[in-house]
Amino acid sequence: MSRPDRTSRFAALLHWFDAEAQEPGATAAVATSPKRVEWTRVVPFILMHVACLGVFVVGWHGTAVLVAIALYLIRMFAITGFYHRYFSHRSFRASRPVQFLFALVGASAAQRGPLWWAAHHRKHHRHADTPLDVHSPSEHGFWWSHMGWITSAVNFPTDMREVRDLAKYPELRWLNRFDIVVPVLLALSLFVLGGWPFLIWGFFVSTVVLFHGTCLINSLAHQMGSRRYDTDDDSRNSFVLALITLGEGWHNNHHRFPGSARQGFFWWEVDITYYGLKFLQALGIIRDLRPVPARVLRSTS
Ligand SMILES: [Zn+2]
Ligand SMILES: [Zn+2]
Repeated sequence: MSRPDRTSRFAALLHWFDAEAQEPGATAAVATSPKRVEWTRVVPFILMHVACLGVFVVGWHGTAVLVAIALYLIRMFAITGFYHRYFSHRSFRASRPVQFLFALVGASAAQRGPLWWAAHHRKHHRHADTPLDVHSPSEHGFWWSHMGWITSAVNFPTDMREVRDLAKYPELRWLNRFDIVVPVLLALSLFVLGGWPFLIWGFFVSTVVLFHGTCLINSLAHQMGSRRYDTDDDSRNSFVLALITLGEGWHNNHHRFPGSARQGFFWWEVDITYYGLKFLQALGIIRDLRPVPARVLRSTS
């Protein structure tokens, strides 16, 4: 192994713990191979999947499965309601403690920090299904758009220019930089509370299913379903994806008007995240949910 390789591997290891650790030479490598899988960095991601096989060791465990389902629902709500609709699109308002609380819950989903997530997502909307869209299935194929793109060093950093509005909060920057902390604390807490069954079902299985459910919006929601609006991308509406992701499956609606807090534009388009946000608004926890303009509802293109 040559010396530059050692340096690079060490830096990749550091990245497990510190998302802002500098990797010498990374820029040159990235520029020449944006589709290279950075194996050292993605070891934890692979191990998360392998750990799911632990269900064959701990077996069926009713309480642990209920914990897994509850954590799927709570964290999917935090990802769709806050990582996506709040941090990425600012589609409603929340106090600083509330935004931090839901950033914490979102961070426990092990989908990196809120600034990283929002920065990539804002770029997705600006360049959807063009060569500049790093997770477009029509440009890069299903698997790359589903999860390949997150294994490339080119997509590891957070482009702070995209999220200046969020980067001014040091607590959010901290969560974003040390994005491994919250998932590890959740895993440890589950182990302390319920041993191996809680850890395997409640953390590993729940987190991996949650991860792939979320990723389906980048991959399948640009391939499967119907198109109400003739948007400049391949986004589609799918009832099945909306159920899996608590409302994100109405992705063609969302690309037509990303600034709205609701993605199911009509009553029959089930959008559980939106019902949750309405509930939080009724409790006074969040406010000013942005509606879909009437002109958008009336038009179909
Ligand atoms: Zn999209
Ligand atoms: Zn969006």
